[in-house]
Amino acid sequence: MNASPTPIALFDMQAQQALIREALDARIASVLSSGRFINGPEVAELEGQLAAFAGVAHAVGVSSGTDALQIAMMAEGIGRGDAVFLPAFTYTATAEVPLVLGATPIFVDVDPDSFNMDMADLTARVEQVAREGRLRPRAVVGVDLFGLPADWPAIRGLCARHGMFTLDDAAQAFGARLHGSPLGGHAEATALSFYPTKTLGCYGDGGALLTNSAERAELYRSLRTHGEGGSRYEVLRTGMNGRLDTLQAAILLCKMTLFPGEIAARARVAGWYHARLSGQVALQAQPAGCESAWGLYTIRCADAAERGRVQASLKAQGIPFGVYYPKPLHHQPAYQAAHAAGFAGAPPPLPVSESLCDQVLSLPMHPYLTEADVERVCAAVSAGL
Ligand SMILES: *Cc1c(COP(=O)(O)O)cnc(C)c1O
Repeated sequence: MNASPTPIALFDMQAQQALIREALDARIASVLSSGRFINGPEVAELEGQLAAFAGVAHAVGVSSGTDALQIAMMAEGIGRGDAVFLPAFTYTATAEVPLVLGATPIFVDVDPDSFNMDMADLTARVEQVAREGRLRPRAVVGVDLFGLPADWPAIRGLCARHGMFTLDDAAQAFGARLHGSPLGGHAEATALSFYPTKTLGCYGDGGALLTNSAERAELYRSLRTHGEGGSRYEVLRTGMNGRLDTLQAAILLCKMTLFPGEIAARARVAGWYHARLSGQVALQAQPAGCESAWGLYTIRCADAAERGRVQASLKAQGIPFGVYYPKPLHHQPAYQAAHAAGFAGAPPPLPVSESLCDQVLSLPMHPYLTEADVERVCAAVSAGL
């Protein structure tokens, strides 16, 4: 009898750690000895590396991707009466932050092929909100879903015409490039998450903000430390406790040594999937100029029934998968009231976001998958189609 094959992970939590275990132990031991658990030198060292990698002037480490979004919106003074446009097909944190600040999220439909925000729908919603005059169009939060850059030149053009702030929720996409340059400088501010399963993940919660604006970077540093000013006990503005821990920065510095190679490895894995699955099932489109970071590898089945068959086939082979996301945000109980409040009449429909929730399926994706692993996953997908 054959030995059972080695298990395939949806996200890698083991192979990477084995490669850097000694460096991790040494970096962690150094923080333990220094005792500088808050604002230790590792934080500034990491910020320098993140800015250099992204080709931006400033990086500010913060406590999570969600807090990065919140600090960026607080710095713009976004709040009551403001409309913040964002995709209906994304993680909950994107919509939660404007609501926490008293602003109104306006859900925008996505493109059925790229799964990123649909520019025609975004333009229509911005014009509608501006025309109705109940809310002020204030910001667009673009999400680079599953690692694929959103259409930033188009988003920025629209925002420039309406005087809106552009915030890139790149929580799933650090390492991606658009028209040859890394995400980080394509919007006025870019939020990163270092949640363990993201393309660059720490061993807990962490995040960062990237920007080319010195004024914004200074505000972010103040806001992450309770709005403090030049001296420690001067409070200039309402802030939050939003710092990145020294220990997490130390862990991320070790992971940064592998990161460029890991992004290349993810692209290689995506190529193996593409070669086997294209023509069989719809894949996330890769528009010209986009180099995805491949945070997730996501296919789109014809309907819920076909997805169910593929899920059953993967399950029978012991292969993990995920559904990101099973429900569009405007159907979430927490956001239904806000969705209705955004418009004078009934909110416009979001048909693509709704149907994608029944169709999408994310397959194992991490830098340490082998071509044989991908072969096994694809055989199981094909068997279910
Ligand atoms: C993960 C994620 C976030 C939140 O990041 P945390 O670090 O978990 O707070 C925000 N937006 C998107 C699109 C994400 O995938």
